[in-house]
Amino acid sequence: MNFRIGYGFDVHQLEKGRPFYLGGILIPNSPHGAVGHSDADVLIHAICDALLGAAALGDIGVHFPNTSAEFKNIDSKILLGKVVSLLKEHGYSIGNIDATLVLEAPKIVPHVPAMREILSKVIGIEKDCISIKATTNETMGYVGKQYGVNAHAVALIEKLK
Ligand code: MG
Repeated sequence: MNFRIGYGFDVHQLEKGRPFYLGGILIPNSPHGAVGHSDADVLIHAICDALLGAAALGDIGVHFPNTSAEFKNIDSKILLGKVVSLLKEHGYSIGNIDATLVLEAPKIVPHVPAMREILSKVIGIEKDCISIKATTNETMGYVGKQYGVNAHAVALIEKLK
């Protein structure tokens, strides 16, 4: 059996007036943005962990420590590109990714095509192999009160050699 699956989860705090990077794009006119050491792209971070998890290669914190100046304010697409390269080095091919964002605002659906477009380029797979969904937390808890945002992702990879 050469197929392997991985799961990733990430969470970031939200703050008013910050740029909101999600799925590799800047969300225009967002009332808030995520706080983090990097650009705080919670969706990309969950995808990175799903890919690393599928290959049993640790997690994003192991590869890109948030104590390192090298990764301060870094574009998370660069981190994702490094994860994809690492999987390739280990003989893996990426099949598909399915992700869910959980947040109250802003509405994500209008931005999903742009996210899929850019992520397909970074990951090197077709757009129809990248699914991005979004849901609210029905006003409950830290996501519902808009203190935070989280993301879940699963990835299927195949060992080629
Ligand atoms: Mg993160």
